[in-house]
Amino acid sequence: MSEAKSGGCLCGKVRYSVVADPAMAVNCHCKNCQRQSGSAFSTIIGVPDGSVSIEGEYKTYEDHGESGQEVLRDFCGNCGSPLFNRVAATPGLIWIKVGTLDDTADFTPAMHLWTKSKQHWLDLAGATAFETNPV
Ligand SMILES: [Zn+2]
Ligand SMILES: [Zn+2]
Repeated sequence: MSEAKSGGCLCGKVRYSVVADPAMAVNCHCKNCQRQSGSAFSTIIGVPDGSVSIEGEYKTYEDHGESGQEVLRDFCGNCGSPLFNRVAATPGLIWIKVGTLDDTADFTPAMHLWTKSKQHWLDLAGATAFETNPV
């Protein structure tokens, strides 16, 4: 991801661009990510705060991780698409929901986190995986 990447929510009210390469690229299987995504896990990239420009208004749900630390979950108030996570435990990073990127052709997540709540039918087949969060 060396050039600017763009993305947005399903309805297009919120659009963003990001100029930095991701510092981290993970699949998160925690229960809260499953609930928010409505799916088996959430695929996210962590990029430096200042590298993302956002256009359009989004809403924020104030969540907390298992450690009790704050996890701000930004989403489109119109179509409901989850967009960004801002996690107190990873200051300086903004986490982008990879499914909202326009082009994911050159993206591969590096690891799986919180596999202790992974859906049982999902076979990670030797991928790098952590029961909780190694960070
Ligand atoms: Zn939307
Ligand atoms: Zn999670």
